Amino acid sequence: MKPPPFEYFAPSSLPEALELMNQHGYGAKVLAGGQSLVPTMNFRLANPSVLIDLNRIPDLGYIRSWSDGLSIGAMTRHVQVEKSPKVLDKMPLLHATMPRIAHPQIRNRGTFGGSLAHADPAAELPALLRAVRGQVKAQSVRGERWIDADDFFVDFFTTALEPDEILTEVRLPGLALRSGWAMDEVARRHGDFALVGVTTVVRVNASGACDEARMVFFGVGDGPMLAETAAGVLRGEQPTDDAILAAAEAAAQKDVDPPTDVHATAAYRRHLVKVLAKRTLRRAFDRALGKEVHND
Ligand SMILES: Cc1cc2nc3c(=O)[nH]c(=O)nc-3n(C[C@H](O)[C@H](O)[C@H](O)COP(=O)(O)OP(=O)(O)OC[C@H]3O[C@@H](n4cnc5c(N)ncnc54)[C@H](O)[C@@H]3O)c2cc1C
Repeated sequence: MKPPPFEYFAPSSLPEALELMNQHGYGAKVLAGGQSLVPTMNFRLANPSVLIDLNRIPDLGYIRSWSDGLSIGAMTRHVQVEKSPKVLDKMPLLHATMPRIAHPQIRNRGTFGGSLAHADPAAELPALLRAVRGQVKAQSVRGERWIDADDFFVDFFTTALEPDEILTEVRLPGLALRSGWAMDEVARRHGDFALVGVTTVVRVNASGACDEARMVFFGVGDGPMLAETAAGVLRGEQPTDDAILAAAEAAAQKDVDPPTDVHATAAYRRHLVKVLAKRTLRRAFDRALGKEVHND
């Protein structure tokens, strides 16, 4: 199927793109990697009257390392993040996450900013952004603003971006001292969207008790879901297998309300939440406690 007709602009600078967004507002959509937008247009699920292609703007694709984190330009391709030595060095969690996103062909074109702006509830990067408390930069002719990950994902495929705003940069802070991480997901085939997945970041204090546990699930609701009850179960506790099991049960019973669809029942998704919570919490705490962990 072909998309409905649309007007096409290919600006060569960010100010030009922002001016076009200002002129066309609600009717316009930004074209990044096109890996999600083009199929949804072909299926007539999206019907923009104007496409503003960011692919000719040279300075939106970069990975910069700063003292304690990373800045990633919105048009950086997934494959560039996947292969980046800076990412491996500064954020092994992100390095471990990238190969889970789709197939290599899609990662060659799909962009970091596009994945976040698209806000698919089953996508990996929105969960990672929340787990590490990242921020995104939104720009328009009115100026720029930084949006915290917890405020960015508003609903199903909906973010806090205004119709005239372009997401231009993502900031990912490095993990604090005595932190650990893990991510895992279950998909029917490698490269498919996950039935359920989770990104987990924990921090322990000097005596090894849990200071903070951020488990963010995807594939279980309208967006990346932070498991707050489970975090409360762990706070102040030694991360024993029993404590982890109690937190995993709380996550599955209290923190998520997963859908039933053609891919899986709600009950099966709840079961996966518990299993993935248990696995990732154990690995994340082991990393935080300085133990060697291999399997992510
Ligand atoms: C078969 C298949 C399997 C996939 N599997 C996965 C998977 O397992 N996990 C996963 O996370 N993703 C998966 N994807 C999606 C893929 O990661 C896409 O790359 C990503 O969702 C969108 O990125 P894009 O650059 O292609 O954005 P586009 O398709 O160009 O745009 C998507 C949406 O975001 C908006 N947008 C894009 N960039 C910006 C910006 N800078 N500012 C404002 N708005 C913007 C567009 O207007 C559009 O509404 C899959 C895609 C396919 C086709």
